[in-house]
Amino acid sequence: MKNIIIENPERIDALVNKKRSLPANYIPEDLVAVDVLHKVEKPESKMLRREASGALTELFAAAEISGFEFWAVSGYRSYDRQVYLFNNYAKAHGEEEANRFSARPGQSEHQTGLTMDVSIKSLNYDLVEELGETPEGKWLADNAHKYGFIIRYPKGTEHITGYQYEPWHIRYLGKELAAKVFESKFTYDEFYEKENAV
Ligand SMILES: [Zn+2]
Repeated sequence: MKNIIIENPERIDALVNKKRSLPANYIPEDLVAVDVLHKVEKPESKMLRREASGALTELFAAAEISGFEFWAVSGYRSYDRQVYLFNNYAKAHGEEEANRFSARPGQSEHQTGLTMDVSIKSLNYDLVEELGETPEGKWLADNAHKYGFIIRYPKGTEHITGYQYEPWHIRYLGKELAAKVFESKFTYDEFYEKENAV
């Protein structure tokens, strides 16, 4: 598969997927620790870019007003960390199967610092498909765009995104763009390709 190295990885609208990789040395310059409830194992996983971190605070606060409590589970991930994770998954599941749920190094949206995996207490903070069936997961799918986030890997789109359904993985695009993508009902891969004629 032909692979493009993204030229402006710091752009908020950067499309990262199995055809478009971030440079190995790309580290966002404005990472900050998120100021929300979290269950993260590594300090770097608590980080997001400043703008996305502020938006996540707004999103979680709005959820709380609706009676839902979200927890941040995994945010920024460095290229080197992704090398380690993908190699381990590939050893356990084989490379092709591993790539259905884990990105190859450079192809993880988590390296952008614009993505957070979220969960809830009743699911033991796990990242599982069941989240999509909970009131919280439904609220997230319906409302995340108002705060600048999209569900990046919607149900039934693996043939387009290359990844299994991930109701927990939200990507920051800014309010205006996230709303457009939400209303289009396209995956971000399709939306981006139409807008940018790539
Ligand atoms: Zn994720």
